[in-house]
Amino acid sequence: MTGKSVPFLDLRAGYLALKSEIDAAVSRVLDSGWYILGPEVETFETAFAKFCEAEHCVGVANGLDALILSLRALDVGPGDEVIVPSNTFIATWLAVSAVGALPVPVEPDPLTYNIDPLLVPAAITSKTRAIIAVHLYGQPCDLDPLIAIGRKHGISVIEDAAQAHSAEYKKARVGGRGDVVCWSFYPGKNLGALGDGGAITTNRADIAARIRTLRNYGSNQKYVNVEQGTNSRLDPIQAAILSVKLDHLVDWTSKRQAIAKNYLDNLRGVTLPFVPDWAVPVWHLFVIRHEKRDELMSSLAAEGISTLVHYPIPPHLQEAYKTACYEKGSFPLTEQFAEDMLSLPIGPQMPIEDQNRVIEAVNRLAAKL
Ligand SMILES: *Cc1c(COP(=O)(O)O)cnc(C)c1O
Repeated sequence: MTGKSVPFLDLRAGYLALKSEIDAAVSRVLDSGWYILGPEVETFETAFAKFCEAEHCVGVANGLDALILSLRALDVGPGDEVIVPSNTFIATWLAVSAVGALPVPVEPDPLTYNIDPLLVPAAITSKTRAIIAVHLYGQPCDLDPLIAIGRKHGISVIEDAAQAHSAEYKKARVGGRGDVVCWSFYPGKNLGALGDGGAITTNRADIAARIRTLRNYGSNQKYVNVEQGTNSRLDPIQAAILSVKLDHLVDWTSKRQAIAKNYLDNLRGVTLPFVPDWAVPVWHLFVIRHEKRDELMSSLAAEGISTLVHYPIPPHLQEAYKTACYEKGSFPLTEQFAEDMLSLPIGPQMPIEDQNRVIEAVNRLAAKL
């Protein structure tokens, strides 16, 4: 092993880079005596809506709840179908199942790895109520055709932007195009809290108001419950931390983009990500492909370089979905990705020496495999 190990993502470095600001924000909340919703959550909601160029933002407990509450706000429930990517993190599917609806998977575009809009019309039935468009790995998916399909069939479009904070699609930030856009602030996300957090952004006042009620027991007024809501509130300590981190998001995103450029310019012998000309990705993950992925991964690990697979088992082959009875081979491209994709280390604090070590090791090892 040569030198120090290269972590996949150094979360602690992200905290230390902003330690004094974050510590001050946390102390401010502790001193305030206000620990549920309130001014810190409202301040962050206003700032994040503005950042996303959206009219409204509602903070919730996590990204999965953002998806579930969006589906509930659109009255999606038992007997309904929702189109989802076959290639995604399982949360996208779990949200649909949680409201009693059926996830209907659609394969990705082979170049962008995101849902292929050309395959969506064939998946629509009389029961289809929504499409969840995921901007996977921080690469915006092709939204315009999905929104056009939605309009034509009277189907809502929900964006799962959990990996795409500050990504741009056709020269505007992701966050206000679909009926509702769902965000996660899980610590490893591009805008990450120091605990769980989530939000929705939308230009639809009706959806924002409904989710505001749903996240707080179905109540707008203490002890008056207009519907059977849940408890899914963004924590004010996390909101205060997120307000600090939001001010650094553009800078931290450009650091990820510089690392991605270094990788794109210098990696050899592996399949690199493709960036359509209408997309400005934010590189939540930098995903390469190689037919001997497992050997490449273990050789890199032997040199102290941590990599991960996103995702090793596609949702349709998970035990959690065994009742849906999907066989191996049902979504061949997604299954292929599960076998040949590899995510390289990337993060705003990643030193240039580490980047170059990754490049040197991948190029040398891939050439030998
Ligand atoms: C992280 C993530 C979620 C869920 O977010 P949590 O905050 O962990 O609940 C949903 N969808 C995608 C694509 C994600 O990456």
